[in-house]
Amino acid sequence: MQGRLRLATASIVWFRIDLRLADQPALAAAAARGGAVLPVYVHSPDEEGEWRPGGASNWWLHNSLAALNDALRRLGSQLLIRRGPALASLLALAREVDASAVFWCRRYEPAIVARDMQLKSSLRAAGLEATSFNGNLLVEPWEIKNQSGRPFQVFTPFWKQVLRSTNVAAPSGEPASLSQPRAWPASLPLAALELLPSIRWYRQMDELWTPGESGAQRQLARFSKSALFDYGRERDLPATAGTSRLSPHLHFGEISPRQIWHRVAAAAAAQNIAAETWRSWQYIAELGWREFGHHLLHHFSRTPLEPLRNEFTQFPWRESPGDLLAWQRGRTGVPLVDAGMRELWSTGWMHNRVRMVVASYLVKNLRLPWQNGARWFWDTLVDADLASNTLGWQWSAGCGADAAPYFRVFNAVSQGKRFDAQGAYIRRWVPELAALDDSQIHAPWTAATPPADYPAPLVDLKVSREAALAAWQQMRAGSGDT
Ligand code: FAD
Repeated sequence: MQGRLRLATASIVWFRIDLRLADQPALAAAAARGGAVLPVYVHSPDEEGEWRPGGASNWWLHNSLAALNDALRRLGSQLLIRRGPALASLLALAREVDASAVFWCRRYEPAIVARDMQLKSSLRAAGLEATSFNGNLLVEPWEIKNQSGRPFQVFTPFWKQVLRSTNVAAPSGEPASLSQPRAWPASLPLAALELLPSIRWYRQMDELWTPGESGAQRQLARFSKSALFDYGRERDLPATAGTSRLSPHLHFGEISPRQIWHRVAAAAAAQNIAAETWRSWQYIAELGWREFGHHLLHHFSRTPLEPLRNEFTQFPWRESPGDLLAWQRGRTGVPLVDAGMRELWSTGWMHNRVRMVVASYLVKNLRLPWQNGARWFWDTLVDADLASNTLGWQWSAGCGADAAPYFRVFNAVSQGKRFDAQGAYIRRWVPELAALDDSQIHAPWTAATPPADYPAPLVDLKVSREAALAAWQQMRAGSGDT
């Protein structure tokens, strides 16, 4: 009898970056319990440590929370909005609605993990059931170890092991219905969180993106119909819509990697493509890099701020606020770099090939610390994600696990010629150069009359490359690694 009574009590579903209804294990657990379900978002950026969400992330979050509320209303429910601290807020809500359980999906950022561990034991000490789930990864960081029982630091064996040992469960659907409380407790209006800036710099983002679960599903459906099959060929061409553009949806948990995995499987099966074949596709490997980033962040939790390879703490970085500003504003005088930085500023996203080029330019040609770049990306990317951003920057700077060696310096002009041969991407984002012909657009300083409104290069690519290699040698000599 007592068990029955307990079943009927309310459950809180604490939404964080798992903003969807389908394949959402915390929501499914609450729905299965039988009592009223109270979905809540607790706004507590101060608890994110050094990594409070940036401006572009906040824009996305605002829209995603609105979309989640709409979706919940379809089920006769709604999203409650509260302010942190998270623990106090959840305890207060549990008291108000007489809830006996709190469910959520796990996050992996070090500050959040520390907060959540404490919070879980405090909720339990207060007599509540507190259970967390894996909602956002194919494999959690502690589930995979190398042969010596240690974390992986090289991608290929990591991913092979994941593919060998992981059975990706079929995603579940959304709950058919959610029981409501007798009376809904108070909620803040979404606008009270002030996630949107007062200046509407996000107009292009409004046009380009549809935050929320249904936007994510539509994007996946579009991608898996055609671009998925050309991904291996087109993924490196920034002027082409050759990649899935699911990164912000994945970051905010509007779609799960399990859903993507199974959609790819279904699309491949419809074309009679064998499982061994599609499981080795580059697109699936990219999902693997996302998993690898989380693995590294969990096991090497200081890496958002410090290089994984210790010798890089001695690297002779330059300091130049002027050069950093030129890079941020897309005014370095190097067309592909400037196109990428302007795409980022306007849309909150940048093509992966160009991310690698602008990062290499910052840390090698300008020799500015990778942390400067990571911070800028953090504030401007709609997909800013501590695991993937740290991985991307440490990879580019040569100081991370399985990183591009520092001595391999991308030449932004050759990269442009190779991956944007007709300059379509550059023409779109750097209109001052649009009239140059294909042979000059990647190096406008070679034109007889370079456009007057476009800056001359900040640094010569060859000379700065030599200086970067000399700095690297100096670091190695200092650490005895020559
Ligand atoms: P697709 O090519 O369609 O790939 C599918 C998914 O796989 C992506 O949505 C993403 O979740 C994942 N993925 C793809 N490439 C990578 C990768 N190299 N590392 C980790 N996951 C990957 N990605 C982020 O999501 N957030 C970041 O903050 C971020 N910062 C980066 C910083 C630098 C310097 C670099 C070089 C890369 C960074 N990336 C980051 C990785 C990558 O550029 C983006 O994930 C990708 O461009 C997103 O576009 P897409 O969804 O079309 O990717």
